[in-house]
Amino acid sequence: MNMKKSTFHIFFTACLVFAGCSPVPDSEIERRVDQMLSQMTIEEKIGQMNQLSYDAGGPQLEDAIRDGRVGSLLNVVDPAVLNGLQNIAVEESRLGIPLVIGRDVIHGFRTIFPIPIGQAATFDPELVRQGAAVAAREARSVGVHWTFAPMLDISRDQRWGRLAEGFGEDPVLGARMGAAMVRGYQGDDMSAPTSIAACVKHFVAYGAAEGGRDYNSTNVPPHLMRNLYLIPFEAAIEAGAATLMTSFNDNDGIPGTGNKALVRDMLRDEWGWDGMVVSDWASVTEMIAHGFAADPKEAAMKAANAGVDMEMVSGAYLEHLPSLIAEGLVPMEYIDNSVRNVLRLKLRLGLFDNPYVDTSAPSALLAPEHLAAARRTAVESAVLLKNDGVLPLDAARVKTVAVVGPMADAPHDQLGTWIFDGEKTTTATPLAALREMYGGQIDIIHETGTEYSRDRSTAGIASAVAAARRADVTVAFVGEEAILSGEAHSLANPGLQGAQKELVARLAQTGRPLVLVVMAGRPLTIGDEVEGSNAVLYSFHPGTMGGPALAELLFGEASPSGRLPMTFAREAGQIPVYYNHNNTGRPYQGNETMIDDIPLEAGQTSLGNTSYYLDAGPEPLFPFGYGLTYTTFEYSNLVLSGEEMTMNGSLEVAATLTNTGKREATEVVQLYVRDVSGSLARPVKELKDFRRVTLGAGASERVVFTLRPEELAFYGIDGVRRAEPGAFRLWVGPDSASGLETSFTLR
Ligand code: BGC
Repeated sequence: MNMKKSTFHIFFTACLVFAGCSPVPDSEIERRVDQMLSQMTIEEKIGQMNQLSYDAGGPQLEDAIRDGRVGSLLNVVDPAVLNGLQNIAVEESRLGIPLVIGRDVIHGFRTIFPIPIGQAATFDPELVRQGAAVAAREARSVGVHWTFAPMLDISRDQRWGRLAEGFGEDPVLGARMGAAMVRGYQGDDMSAPTSIAACVKHFVAYGAAEGGRDYNSTNVPPHLMRNLYLIPFEAAIEAGAATLMTSFNDNDGIPGTGNKALVRDMLRDEWGWDGMVVSDWASVTEMIAHGFAADPKEAAMKAANAGVDMEMVSGAYLEHLPSLIAEGLVPMEYIDNSVRNVLRLKLRLGLFDNPYVDTSAPSALLAPEHLAAARRTAVESAVLLKNDGVLPLDAARVKTVAVVGPMADAPHDQLGTWIFDGEKTTTATPLAALREMYGGQIDIIHETGTEYSRDRSTAGIASAVAAARRADVTVAFVGEEAILSGEAHSLANPGLQGAQKELVARLAQTGRPLVLVVMAGRPLTIGDEVEGSNAVLYSFHPGTMGGPALAELLFGEASPSGRLPMTFAREAGQIPVYYNHNNTGRPYQGNETMIDDIPLEAGQTSLGNTSYYLDAGPEPLFPFGYGLTYTTFEYSNLVLSGEEMTMNGSLEVAATLTNTGKREATEVVQLYVRDVSGSLARPVKELKDFRRVTLGAGASERVVFTLRPEELAFYGIDGVRRAEPGAFRLWVGPDSASGLETSFTLR
């Protein structure tokens, strides 16, 4: 054993023990970081900035770790292998610096929760926090220290496959959910055996990929960047996010991984953040394909100078930073700061004290309380989009249910994208759950209709239709296989694929009651299907416990409470369509002529000259925030505590919510504001707050929000963030397109 390394390691371990370990005060961590740094060679420093994928590591991996050329590994989850590699880092490398192990734990580790866009639909940050805590507990139990989540990319484009991984189109919802997820993963103490480090990604504006095509360029200008795309990042960093990942896209010609203005100047210097920045997978050397670097050396230089602390897998740092430093092209000070950021992360994770995973501990995977949390999240994430009264099904009256569609029994596909460690053998599908929960009372006939979501064969449709004719009600589980969303899975036509449209149309033609359950990774353009059915429940990809959750909802053991985290376009040509758009100088008035009503040889100005599509109008299929339940809610008596808000004051906003139906249910009360006139044109509505309120039949509650000037602040024409005095409109209601309205003035 190398004595120098050993002394070093024992010294730091002793310090940690002496300091009481967790959480170690920041000043103590900084002292240790500096102490370590002072003992490192340039090669060892650069080694800490290098992350390798285990599967690509090859036979040289152990030597690389031993020589201090690897700071982190990703994609290794076998505890025995992990401990072996960690042992080499800790016992055989000169300084004994432990490896930090990363993994994409995006919506659960083994217990898979609904995809993040589904979690966003819960409008329940506390539930999202709990889900991330479950994922952290499972992941850390096998030796993972660090997840590459949450994804905070706002997206206004349902063609983009990766929107499945994020929280939708709204910055306030994204900020609350992102902060909650960070808290869930990291807990109060990242060194706890139940915590992992979070990584906010992808910095930044990746969700604005032109045309919704993944990896495509973005063109987000500075005001929109600050006032929309950066908001969830600021919130998650405020919540303590330990790391951040730069993005693949170039924004206005500058790839995320080479964007010094945003990473070094803003994130570090302006926001004062001391977390660790990792590149995306090979996004350092991909700057060559972008045309932003001529070769790997220039790519390494641009990434390091931009402030990227760790390079994921492409190896340009290891190879070129030594000469870049020697030639004075990357300042040593930048390297030292990057290494500080890496070491700080490892210290906060407690890795010097406890580098190994305890293989003798009882398994935390799929613990009953984890499955219960996943089930509850799946219940809350489903959005009821239509219901003519067919739902909830009455188990005492319905005798035969036809369960059809390719997603009714698709244990892999209901888990959704990014489930490296999920296992379909543990999935509870709707078919299985319905049989288990209601099979004793009800006759369940199963026909797939189409075998899988892209299946173009119509051969199975006749049997599905026959089943529908025999049944009291048909529940058709349609949607998308998991592989149709997620990274690199964009669609030009985000509707039902394969023969599913025909399946739904033929089921609708029977005239028998038809309930659609849509399991998808994105909002789909399902106008025809909504029209043809009696009820639609949109569950996104609901995860391991999706089956029982949906069965509960269908039979009314739970009432739906999800709300749309994204506007649903009627058709792809409307995209991007989002609620918080600017008004334009010629907004739609509501009485415009549509294509079929235009007189022949009409004059140039016959249409009123407003902003809409002749063939699709301006309205989406469903607005942001929308969702029904099994009761009705009424809003009344919206009152503000005053007509004016001062710059250092606040306003109380109160409205009465009454459950006017016959069942207990949860409403998501939403508060929107419009800044009528500013130094920049402001959106027609912006969500400022929301609250889930559960009320029994007939019950009422006064729902009170406090609105402060900070919430009205934005980066104005001069680039300064402040609330601007003037008139505001305000709404409290069930979604972004309705509600009670009032107004106030900010002085
Ligand atoms: C994705 C990241 C992910 C990384 C590591 C990349 O392709 O863009 O979101 O964390 O791979 O798996």
